[in-house]
Amino acid sequence: MKNNGRKIISIILSICMFSSVFSYASVPNVTAQASEREELEQKLEEINNKLDSLKKEKSETQEYINALDEKLVYLRNEYELTQAEAKNTTAQVEKLENSIEENTVTLANTKEEINTLQVNEQQLRTEFDSTYEDYCKRIRALYVSGNFSSTLEFILDSDGIYDFLTKLEMVASVTRRDSRLLKKVQKECEEIVATRNELKQKEQDLTKTQSILQSDTANLKVQKVNLAEKEKEMQKKSETIESQQQEANALLLKINNETQHFGEFHDMTQAEIDALDREFEEADKKYPVTTTTTTTTQKHESDNTKPNTTTTTTTKPANPGSSYINLTWPCPSHKYINCGFGDYYGHTGCDFSTGGKTGYDVVAADSGIVMISRDITCNRSTCKKSYHGGGYCSYGRYIVIRHDKLTKDGKMVYTLYAHNSQRYVSEGEHVSKGEVIAASGSTGNSTGPHLHFEVRVGGSTSSYAVDPERYLP
Ligand SMILES: [Zn+2]
Ligand SMILES: [Zn+2]
Repeated sequence: MKNNGRKIISIILSICMFSSVFSYASVPNVTAQASEREELEQKLEEINNKLDSLKKEKSETQEYINALDEKLVYLRNEYELTQAEAKNTTAQVEKLENSIEENTVTLANTKEEINTLQVNEQQLRTEFDSTYEDYCKRIRALYVSGNFSSTLEFILDSDGIYDFLTKLEMVASVTRRDSRLLKKVQKECEEIVATRNELKQKEQDLTKTQSILQSDTANLKVQKVNLAEKEKEMQKKSETIESQQQEANALLLKINNETQHFGEFHDMTQAEIDALDREFEEADKKYPVTTTTTTTTQKHESDNTKPNTTTTTTTKPANPGSSYINLTWPCPSHKYINCGFGDYYGHTGCDFSTGGKTGYDVVAADSGIVMISRDITCNRSTCKKSYHGGGYCSYGRYIVIRHDKLTKDGKMVYTLYAHNSQRYVSEGEHVSKGEVIAASGSTGNSTGPHLHFEVRVGGSTSSYAVDPERYLP
């Protein structure tokens, strides 16, 4: 029983310690979130003012779209912040619910233990009462029989030494029995005291658990209200984002149609990018890299054919252009970049507008293996986008090539060709520089016919995207 009690106390203590650690740890996080939110609100106010003044000028220009893009970034950040807060609150709610569940069990156990202790105490009292009564009776009997006020007097009253010794022997035996009885009385008394102390401790535990339960329950109520508010806020924010996105998309389409400079709607989500990144990584692993080995072999060969001299000199390849990556225009008929790398938030490539028409040759910018040749078919039942060019989403019908040649500093190069109307090559196929791989189009997330071209250096995923103009002629 005692061990069990200690276990429960230690559980309560550990819960208290854990919950206090948790609340301390979450404090700086909350402060950081609050200041981030404040900063975002400030930025949103500024951008809204800018949008208002642009609207007054009736300039539905690129500037207005850029401002809308900026606003959307802030709105999404705000949404993510709220989402993180909601996640924190959910974690707190779960923690409180667990704590309440555990403490409810603890409370029931403690109550049961108290009941058992009370029964024990009652039993001990009954035992003690009867032992004590026995003891009193015996003492009384001793005194009553001799009518003496003390054992000494009883002994001193003896006639002659024999009588004295007999009486002494009698007293000794009676005293032995009495002292055993007295010890029993003392022991039972101590047991009662110990039981009462334990009972007191348990009652204190009970009060403590009850107060923890009470505060947890109150806290839970607050957190649940908090969570409901956050969820409402998220719902509202996502509606705002959606309506702003639609406004931006409609405007972008209008301007793109007027200028014949086509690109993408600026609404790729991080989740979509992440999903594509995983596909790229998978595809990259699928085909063994031969580039490095080839390069090394070539180097060895040239070393071997070199005259054997004692002086070591650095030998440069005869034609540097053929050893390193050297990209050609991916859409030879259209070399004008109407929207460059980073021209809007999240634009990881450059756009070659094809003047409102589709079907132009898209070629491999350099030789390499076709790592990906796929269609991102739109799932209309789950797709939340406003535009689904040709029934496709995102990059639409797209191709990724991993090139044979590296950069001068030995990095792997990947190129990506998106929104094609036709794909002419399959995954795993080797293509040479300038080979036609697709027909340009406007599939997926596209405002009109154009080639979206990306260059990734050092890795296949989106974070390795660089400005293609650094590698184009
Ligand atoms: Zn779609
Ligand atoms: Zn683009």
